[in-house]
Amino acid sequence: MIHITDWSTDVCGLRYLIMHECERLKSIMKLIEKACNRVGRDPEEVTLLGASKTVPPERIRAFYGCGLRTFGENRVQEFLKKYEALAGLTIDWHFIGRLQTNKVKHLVGKVSLIHSLDRVSLAEEIQKRAQKADLVQRVLIEVNMGGEETKGGVSPKEVFGLFTHIQNLPNLKVEGLMTIPPYRENQEEVRPFFRGLRELKEELEHRFGVRLKHLSMGMSHDFEVAIEEGATIVRIGTMLFGERN
Ligand SMILES: *Cc1c(COP(=O)(O)O)cnc(C)c1O
Repeated sequence: MIHITDWSTDVCGLRYLIMHECERLKSIMKLIEKACNRVGRDPEEVTLLGASKTVPPERIRAFYGCGLRTFGENRVQEFLKKYEALAGLTIDWHFIGRLQTNKVKHLVGKVSLIHSLDRVSLAEEIQKRAQKADLVQRVLIEVNMGGEETKGGVSPKEVFGLFTHIQNLPNLKVEGLMTIPPYRENQEEVRPFFRGLRELKEELEHRFGVRLKHLSMGMSHDFEVAIEEGATIVRIGTMLFGERN
């Protein structure tokens, strides 16, 4: 049971639970379960991804010890260091940051899912590297739902063109969509962006006659609303690991 005294509020209004790693993980899993219950979803459908940028390997190891298996990194160099340092663990690594084409070669074969595919040139490079490694790289298309210039992702209109192009790349498998919506203090104001991403996924499924498994959406301050709108992967940093400096 979470009591209000278990929460500390930082200047940005983000929530951080002051408790031991495993207890904190458990509390977040509870919140995920509750959000699922509110809309009749099975909590098994939702993967908690630890967004571990700036978090040292030893803290990742601690959360691994608590049972967390999925971690996502934003920077290729930082990822490679942690990948090496934690090579003995069976971590399911994802890549969630903006990706330069010339860095793709470092990721293929090491990350199971790339969340940030946002252009044809990147898709073609992933195709090339995945073919070379004789594997199929799973990807999500990142969509810039808020139309913010500072963020990556294609516009909702551009998704269809990019998706069409990827259909011709045999070593790429699009498994869904990802978004980083605009920050809003009030979770309810983020809901339309999450709903929009779900509707976009449904339209893709309808137009192309495919099933897309994933909606990667929701971070520390808005993951509960994201789950209510259909998120299958929530990317949580601050609430798990604490404030980044
Ligand atoms: C840092 C990051 C997160 C986690 O953000 P928090 O607000 O700390 O939970 C999620 N997704 C992406 C792409 C990130 O870069």
